[in-house]
Amino acid sequence: MINDTMYARGAESSVIREIFTYANERKAQIGAENVFDFSLGNPSVPAPDEVRQSIERSLKLPPEQVHGYTPAPGAPEVRTAVAESLNRRFGTNYTMADVFMTVGAAASVSCTLGAVTCPGDEVIVIAPYFPEYRVWIETAGAVCIEVLADQETFQVDPEAVAAAITDRTAAVIIDSPNNPTGAVYTRENLEKLVDALERANTEREARLGHPQPIVLISDEPYREITYGAEVPWVPSLYEHTVVCYSYSKSLSLPGERVGWVLVPQVSEGARRVMTAVAGTARSLGFVCAPSLFQRVVMDCVDVPSDVAAYARNRDLLTQALSQMGYTYVEPGGAFYLWVRALEPDAEAFCERARAYELLPVPSNSFGVEGWVRVGYCVAPEVIERSLPAWKRLAEDYGL
Ligand code: PLP
Repeated sequence: MINDTMYARGAESSVIREIFTYANERKAQIGAENVFDFSLGNPSVPAPDEVRQSIERSLKLPPEQVHGYTPAPGAPEVRTAVAESLNRRFGTNYTMADVFMTVGAAASVSCTLGAVTCPGDEVIVIAPYFPEYRVWIETAGAVCIEVLADQETFQVDPEAVAAAITDRTAAVIIDSPNNPTGAVYTRENLEKLVDALERANTEREARLGHPQPIVLISDEPYREITYGAEVPWVPSLYEHTVVCYSYSKSLSLPGERVGWVLVPQVSEGARRVMTAVAGTARSLGFVCAPSLFQRVVMDCVDVPSDVAAYARNRDLLTQALSQMGYTYVEPGGAFYLWVRALEPDAEAFCERARAYELLPVPSNSFGVEGWVRVGYCVAPEVIERSLPAWKRLAEDYGL
């Protein structure tokens, strides 16, 4: 017997990965320098040297300290290092009890969803959204409810979120700096969202006779990848926040699978959420985050991200595309440019772009029509070489 749902998920794979596979086939046919693959969010900046130094130091330790299992929530000294780093940055008082080490942000979000939803509950995502959210929400047995972002600014639309809340709403997922739009949610915008959630919590408590607060899941793998914008610390705005983080983008370690969930232990309810996060990680068979890379996190917790290369790519691409007549959302963070497709059907536009070996991702996979995501976490030469192709594509559409 085969589980049909899981079979379908394995068979369909993700659009982003399909494009990436096509790009590699095409590179083998016509040469890597002639294909402009903007599909994947794989950091182009190498991991900082402190990562290599940390690994070299660790490899001199007794093997069981480096390669053995750690406790399920992570090594105590690593969780303490993460908590203390957050305290230095955000003036908080976290301890290791607030931190659960995970196998990257994917596991952080999946474990949080498993912890805070019951079958049939609803989870609100802000469209356009990271496509794996739907998979993880449905795996938890919950229902994915799409709420459009403000279509001018791509900030959260708090009134639209308020209108989508029902008695089954268990959580809202936000992702800032945002994949796919590059928007960074402002403090004012987040405060309005928090107002909407608190209003809903109060009304719900009056109706149900007991509190049942909506959890705000702040998925933040791009927190460090910004171009000057403030990224507010969400738990300081809303008590029922769970932060999901990873070092995939900030330290360029996506293949090493390490991150954390932070549940500030401010109430009995929060303590129960943390226990349920541990229960979900156990149920999914994660066992513990990779031991060697937990040690790297401990050593590199305050190493800054190198965003200069992404900033240069962003400037190069945006200046050239705007001169050609493309319109896009000015990215405040992450390494994606959200460009308006030159026809309403983003998939048809991507098909036409393919004739010029340009490989962006159509917006349909992110839950909206009419846009494409251009991942500029690539070597600058890829952007430079791609510019004549973008120009010819624009001319094709009469720009
Ligand atoms: N959340 C968002 C918004 C992402 O863009 C990604 C990866 O690209 C993830 C989560 C998963 O990150 P990780 O590789 O750390 O599991």
